[in-house]
Amino acid sequence: MAEVNLSPPAMPAGKKRIAVMTSGGDSPGMSAAVRAVVRQTIASGCTAFCVYEGYQGLVDGGDMIREMKWEDVRGWISEGGTLIGTARCMAFIERAGRLTAANNMIEKGIDALVICGGDGSLTGADKFRAEWPSLMEELISTGKRKDHEVAPFRHLNIVGLVGSIDNDLSSTDATIGCYSSLQRICQSIDFIDSTAFSHQRAFVVEVMGRHCGWLALMAGVSCGADFVFIPENPPSEKWEDDMCSIVKKHREMGKRKTIVIVAEGAHDKNLNHISASQVKDLLSNKVGLDTRVTTLGHVQRGGPPCAYDRMLATLQGVEAVKAVLEATPETESPVICIVENKIVRKNLVEAIKMTKKVAEDIGRKDFAAAMKGRDAEFEEFLQAFNITTATDKGDNMLPKEKRLRVGIIHVGAPAGGMNAATRAAVAYCLTRGHTPVALHNGFPGLCRHHDDQPLGSVREISWLDAESWASKGGSEIGTNRSLPSEDFKTTAYCFEHYNIDALFVIGGFEAFTAVSELRKARDQYDAFKIPMVQLPATVSNNVPGTEYSIGSDTCLNALIDYCDAIKQSASASRRRVFVVETQGGASGYIATIAGLSIGALAVYTPEEGIHLNMLVEDIKFLKDQFAKDKGSVRSGKIILRNEKASKTYTTEVISNIIKEESGGKFDCRFAVPGHVQQGGTPSPMDRVRAVRFGVKSMQYLESYAGKSKEEIYKDPMSAAVIGIRGARVKFSPMERIENEETDWKDRRPLNEFWMNLVNVVDTLSGRPQSCREG
Ligand code: ATP
Repeated sequence: MAEVNLSPPAMPAGKKRIAVMTSGGDSPGMSAAVRAVVRQTIASGCTAFCVYEGYQGLVDGGDMIREMKWEDVRGWISEGGTLIGTARCMAFIERAGRLTAANNMIEKGIDALVICGGDGSLTGADKFRAEWPSLMEELISTGKRKDHEVAPFRHLNIVGLVGSIDNDLSSTDATIGCYSSLQRICQSIDFIDSTAFSHQRAFVVEVMGRHCGWLALMAGVSCGADFVFIPENPPSEKWEDDMCSIVKKHREMGKRKTIVIVAEGAHDKNLNHISASQVKDLLSNKVGLDTRVTTLGHVQRGGPPCAYDRMLATLQGVEAVKAVLEATPETESPVICIVENKIVRKNLVEAIKMTKKVAEDIGRKDFAAAMKGRDAEFEEFLQAFNITTATDKGDNMLPKEKRLRVGIIHVGAPAGGMNAATRAAVAYCLTRGHTPVALHNGFPGLCRHHDDQPLGSVREISWLDAESWASKGGSEIGTNRSLPSEDFKTTAYCFEHYNIDALFVIGGFEAFTAVSELRKARDQYDAFKIPMVQLPATVSNNVPGTEYSIGSDTCLNALIDYCDAIKQSASASRRRVFVVETQGGASGYIATIAGLSIGALAVYTPEEGIHLNMLVEDIKFLKDQFAKDKGSVRSGKIILRNEKASKTYTTEVISNIIKEESGGKFDCRFAVPGHVQQGGTPSPMDRVRAVRFGVKSMQYLESYAGKSKEEIYKDPMSAAVIGIRGARVKFSPMERIENEETDWKDRRPLNEFWMNLVNVVDTLSGRPQSCREG
C-alpha cells in the first residue's frame, strides 16, 4: 500500500483555503451563493473547496470535501436548489461527529468555512465555532493530531450565509431563497384567483412556515388576500367570528372571490393549531361559500432563483469571502445580512439568539415580543395588510377637518407595482376618512377640456374599484409622459376645481420632474401649495433620492428569464455569444444587476460608455474563455449592453464586430427584448414594496392635514420623494434632491450606488481589468 501523507497541506501565508457548504432545507439561490464564494475565493488568490451534502460531507470527509476550480461552477447562478447537495445530519449534532468533522477539515487544510443554511445549520455552525478550541485539544490529547498539525488551525474562521425559503432569521430583511419562494406562491395564488373569481369561490391556501409567517404575510400583501394566519401574530380568541365577518363584508361590498392564507405553523393565541381545513369548514358552513383548500407544498422550494435571490446570493457570497479574509482571531463570527438595500455583517451568535428568542416568545405567548424580534419591515407589512383589508371605519377615522382629498396620478411609462401602490393608497384613504381621487391618464387627462364636456378625467376611487389591483401590471388609471409645465394654468385650475388637498405621484423620472415643476411653480400658483409625494416607479431605477424604484425588480425578472432562455440556446450551440440590449435609459442599473443575476461576461453601461479598445480586449477575453471551455454544456455567454451605452457601437455593430474578429472560433448574435422588460404581472417584491411605500406615502401626506398653504409652501419637506437609501426608508425633500443629487442632462442620480457592482460582475466572470481600461 502506498504511504498516505496525513499531514495537512502546506499553506502559504495569507493564502487561505476556504470551503463552502449548503445545509438544511434547500433554497433557490444556494448554488448562486456557492458560485460566488468559489469564484471570489479564487479571484482573491485563495483555494476554494466545496463540502458536499452539508454537515454529512464534513463528517464523512475524503472526496466529500473537494477543491473547486473556476469552471466547475459555470452556469450555477441560475440553478435551483443546491448543486453540492444538502442534508440533515444527525452525526453533527453529537460532539463525536463534530470532532470527526474538525479532523477532516485539518486533513484538507481548510481554515475557513462559509455555511449557507437556515437557523438550524447556523446554530450548528455556532456550536462548532464555540467548541473548536476544545475539539483541537481533544484531537491532540487523543493522539489523532500532533501539536504542529493543529497549530495553524487554532481559530476556526466561520461565516454564515442565510439560505432558507422561510425568511426566519432575525437580523436580516431577506434570506437567500425567500423571494423566489414568494414568487412561486404568488404565481400559484394568481392562478387560483381567476378560478375563484369565475366561480365566486373561496380558497384557503396553506403555505410553508412552521415558525415564521413571512411567506404567508407577504403572499397576503402581494395577492390582496382577505385574511392571513401567521404564528407571530395569532388572531384574537374570537377569530372565527372575526374572519367570517371580514369575508362577509368583502362579499357584501361586491367582491366575488375570497382568498385566505394559512401559514403551516398558524395557531391561535393559546397555541392551538389552526389548520386550512378548519378555516375551510368555517367559510363553507358559517359564510356559505363554496370553499376549496390548496396546499402548495414543495413547489414553494423549487425552481430557478428569482433575480433578487441571485443578486443577494452573489453579493453575500462575495461579502462572505471578504469577511473571511479580513478576520482576525479576535473577530466575532459574522452572518451576512441585508438591511433594506445594504449588505451588512452582523454577529452570528446574536442573530441566532434573536431568532431563538422569537420562537421562545411565541412559546410563551408573548406575541408582541415575537413581532418585535422580526425585522422592522415585518410589522409595517402587517399594518399595511390590515389597512388594505380593513372594512370597519370605526376607530381609524380622522376628524372631518383632517380629512383630505388625495389626488393620485401615474406619470411616465408603466412599471410593475403602480396599481398595487394605488390600491394600498386608496384603502388607506378610505380607512382614515380621506377621499382618494384618480387623476386618469396623467396630466393631459387631468387637463382635458372640451366646451361640451366636464373638465378633466377625474374620479373618486371606491374600495371595490381598486380591490383587484394588487397583482395587476400596467396602469389601471392610465399613465402619460407629459409634464404639468405643458399647461400649468389648467393644471392649477383643475387642482382647485377638484379640491385636491394632497398629491400622490407614482412614476419614474418624468414623475420626479413633474413634482419638481409643481414645487417650483408654487410661487405662481397657490393650488400647488399642497403636500406632494413621489413614489419612484420605473423599470430603469434612475430616480434620484432612492436606490430602488418599484417596477425595477419586475423588469429584472423578465430580463433574466429572457437571458436564461438565450443562454441555453447559446450553450446548446456550444460556441456562441449573445449581445443582449437592455432598457434603462441613460442608467446602467438594469444592465448591471441583470449582469450580476445571470453571470454575464461583461456589461456595457452609459456611465462608462464603450470604446474600441474595450471591444478589442473583450474579444481577446472571449477567445480565451472559449479556448478554456472545451465544449462545456454551460458554455453560452452573454454580454449585456444598455440601450444608450454608445451611439456608435450599437448592439448590432458590436455583435458584428465580435463575429468578424472571432477568427471563426465562435459565433455572435444579438437580441433586443424591448418592452418585454416592463414585465407582465408585477413581481411580489414590487407588489409588497408598492403597498408598504403606498401606505407610508399616505401617512406622510396625512401629516400635513390642517396646515395652511403658507406653512406648506415654507416647508421644504412638503414636496418629497420616498425611497430606500442604504439601510433606511426615507422621505427626501425634492428641492435638495433636484439641486444636489440629480444629473438632469442624463436623467439619473448624480451618484449611483450600484456603480461598483460592475466590478463584481467582472470579477465573477473573470474579465480582466484591462478590458474596461481598453
Ligand atoms: P431550514 O430552514 O430549511 O429548516 P435549517 O438549517 O434550519 O434549514 P435544520 O434541519 O434545522 O435545517 O439543520 C440542518 C443541519 O444543521 C442539521 O441536520 C444538523 O446537522 C445541523 N444542526 C442543526 N442544529 C444543530 C445543533 N444544535 N447542533 C449541531 N448541529 C446542528
